[in-house]
Amino acid sequence: MLTNRINTLSESITIAITALAGELKAQGKDILSFSAGEPDFGTPRVIKDAAIQAINDGFTKYTAVDGIPELKTAIANKLKRDNNLTYAANQIIVSNGAKHSLFNLFSVLIDNGDEVIIPAPYWVTYPELVKYCGGKVVEIETHDVTGFKITPEQLKSAITPNTKMLVLTTPSNPTGSIYSKEELTQLGKVLEGTEIIVASDEMYEKLIYEGVFTSCASISEDMFKRTITINGLSKSVAMTGWRFGYMAAYNTEIIKATKKLQSQSTSNINSITQKAAIVGLDGEADGDIEMMRKEFLARRDEAVKLFNNIEGLSVLKPDGAFYLFVNISKISNDSLGFAKDLLDKKLVAVVPGVGFGSEGYFRFSFAANINSIRTGIKRIEEFVKENY
Ligand code: PMP
Ligand code: GLU
Repeated sequence: MLTNRINTLSESITIAITALAGELKAQGKDILSFSAGEPDFGTPRVIKDAAIQAINDGFTKYTAVDGIPELKTAIANKLKRDNNLTYAANQIIVSNGAKHSLFNLFSVLIDNGDEVIIPAPYWVTYPELVKYCGGKVVEIETHDVTGFKITPEQLKSAITPNTKMLVLTTPSNPTGSIYSKEELTQLGKVLEGTEIIVASDEMYEKLIYEGVFTSCASISEDMFKRTITINGLSKSVAMTGWRFGYMAAYNTEIIKATKKLQSQSTSNINSITQKAAIVGLDGEADGDIEMMRKEFLARRDEAVKLFNNIEGLSVLKPDGAFYLFVNISKISNDSLGFAKDLLDKKLVAVVPGVGFGSEGYFRFSFAANINSIRTGIKRIEEFVKENY
């Protein structure tokens, strides 16, 4: 009955494990979950107030499919201020979360047989959406020893005449690694003279602990023209449930095509979220963003220290985002089995590396309070001692 297309799509493993942990908790089990890619903070007051105001003002009707003009202006201003990128309103479209932006992007650009280069470990959603749209995923493997970053040589050898797109995530989910300006410049040079599009997912841009964040599109005129910048507010201002994301592209045809698709599928995003998002973008919530960043930084440092004291495990200190990608390859090359057993025996939920395309690791989100992080890592230590 179902299409092949949907039958070959896998459910998001990050969402599935988070849901399972939630169910077990609801049954009364003492579950500690580090599986969610979601800030544990609430949405800042100023943003909530803007939403309440929008409701009270009756701002509850359909809007322009691609976002209200003042929201698009706020996005353009943000891209200029934070990223040194100049986009006009017809180069921006707002969607129901960055995940929806990516779905739209692959839908309008990937044809049957087109190859999409995705560095692994990757965020679980990219390969599934690419395949759903008929594309072929070409993975480039990376490891902790090289900071989980692809090299220009690796990129060069992954390119074929069928390569349509490269997906870059900086800072990365699940590793937290950040490409420097120099590294992006070198990758950009490999692409010069090709038609390859870069999808730059910059969702974790505000969560930087070391180094400087550089937007892919900002490194050269050539990169600006080939890059689609994807971002949102789920991570930076804890707005996961509000559903807001956007993409910005030099090529207005891409935005026009996405608007057409959206006009026949979801229409505009929630009108109230649009008003709230303006406040999330225009700097009014910057104090809240910094408060959350500092708290994540303290948790990162503590969690990294604790993990690196466990014999058999090791972890790189991530430069950004709120994940640790913990290497377990000394003790196990079955990350799914490891994660299942850990949940079963110690009631701790983490996401197996295999879901991100990298066996021998698990992802631990430190978007959780410090006491549960300490207790959770203690349980993981006991688990490792007792079973490996
Ligand atoms: N990109 C990355 C790298 C992510 O981790 C996520 C997960 N939240 C998203 C995009 C999508 O976020 P949202 O749809 O909530 O905007
Ligand atoms: N992106 C988050 C994560 O990696 C949320 C879950 C999802 O959208 O897959 O956990």
